[in-house]
Amino acid sequence: MKCKKCGGRAVLELRRHNTAFCAEDFLGFFRRHTLETIRRWKMLTRDEPVLVAVSGGKDSLALWDVLLTEGYNTAGLYLDLGIFDYSRASKAKCLDFAVERDARLIIVSVQDAVGAAVPRVRDATRRPTCSACGLSKRYLLNRAALENGFPVVATGHNLDDEAATLLGSTLRWDESSLARQTPVLEATHPKLVRRVKPLFRLSERETAAYAFLRGIDYIVEECPFSRGATSITHKEILNRLEDASPGSKAAFFLGYLDRARHLFHARESVTLLECVRCGQATTGEVCAFCKLSDQVRRAVGLPGEATDQPTDPAALRGLISDLTAASEIHAP
Ligand code: AMP
Ligand code: ZN
Repeated sequence: MKCKKCGGRAVLELRRHNTAFCAEDFLGFFRRHTLETIRRWKMLTRDEPVLVAVSGGKDSLALWDVLLTEGYNTAGLYLDLGIFDYSRASKAKCLDFAVERDARLIIVSVQDAVGAAVPRVRDATRRPTCSACGLSKRYLLNRAALENGFPVVATGHNLDDEAATLLGSTLRWDESSLARQTPVLEATHPKLVRRVKPLFRLSERETAAYAFLRGIDYIVEECPFSRGATSITHKEILNRLEDASPGSKAAFFLGYLDRARHLFHARESVTLLECVRCGQATTGEVCAFCKLSDQVRRAVGLPGEATDQPTDPAALRGLISDLTAASEIHAP
């Protein structure tokens, strides 16, 4: 197979684009694609400092690599979730990446911010691990960006992530997640920064190829808590569709952005206030993160701010719906 650009030996076939590239031309294709996404969706301007949320995985490190190569003003932000060896190894990948490129990496620890690491948060709240973790990620990424003067956070979500999230929301007809899912979430409040996903049109296979060809050392293991998650089943199903009919994932997700999202978005309206405790944006009086952190601090015996929040099952159900409301403001 030959590279469609230079006629040299191709290393990667992209069936959905009906093309194939040699290593060098694939890297060029990947960078151009990312820059085109940033431009077309008005994600970043050239002079805007951008905080790249890096997990140590291929997608976010590939994104940081493209932005650094293209001369954007960036820093990385690694959130240490305290998930045993998985967190130790992923933090080391981010640190090595940053040191090799002389780039700035900010590290925020969930243990310090919430009062306990993610596994303990799960035990303390009995909430599904991924929802407490997702809430903490959204809140702490936003807060770190505000504190360090970044108007925008970029994450490494790829086409497979977005199509799988969309499939999950569609299967449940979850109207508010359908309204919220977007590659650019504008800052709708002074305490929220813009969130962008510059890789959302590139597939997981393409980000893996980019990371490999650039020699990026990334963590291959998934988070141990994500095992058995329905999003993995959704990804497998979408891969089967893609195999049978290349371009299905892109048609599904891009078609939703073009033709369906506005129908759901038009019906959404939330009024944002400032949390009386931490000042961050919230729909209630005390934000979901402060409530979570109180609950965790009480469970692990740390001093925390006193709230009138009871812990009986009915009240916990209330907390969970608050947390859901908060995640509606800043979707993953
Ligand atoms: P995931 O939800 O693990 O698929 O991650 C989606 C995106 O969220 C990644 O591409 C990163 O940009 C960001 N992210 C995930 N985990 C972390 C972390 N521990 N620290 C910083 N950013 C993260
Ligand atoms: Zn708060």
